Amino acid sequence: MAQTKTDAKAQVIATYDGHPTFQCSTCAATIALQDELISKSFAGRDGRGYLMHSATNLKMGKKEDRSLLTGTHTVSDVFCLGCNERMGWYYVKAPDNTQKYKEGKYLLERERLIKDNAWKLDDE
Ligand SMILES: [Zn+2]
Repeated sequence: MAQTKTDAKAQVIATYDGHPTFQCSTCAATIALQDELISKSFAGRDGRGYLMHSATNLKMGKKEDRSLLTGTHTVSDVFCLGCNERMGWYYVKAPDNTQKYKEGKYLLERERLIKDNAWKLDDE
């Protein structure tokens, strides 16, 4: 059975047993289950971002405080284990209670993701 929760340790998962996934657009590594998508309406650094409950095959960069639309968050950039491409960031700490739900979640840049069936991502 596929694991739906990842911890801080890097782990490479080749497949999610037929569950639809998002893959790295550069090297096609499995990055996240489509079921783990929380919202498509986030802003990434380079465009639209997807907020995800969990993600895999990512390594964490250095923690830093970053000014985002909703305040200063402590985040770590995340990089694809397969190709080192920056995929987005991980929310370590939110500025206040209204943003707390993001802690422990991933923001993935839409431009860096493809669906495993190679269909184009939905617009808006
Ligand atoms: Zn990659």
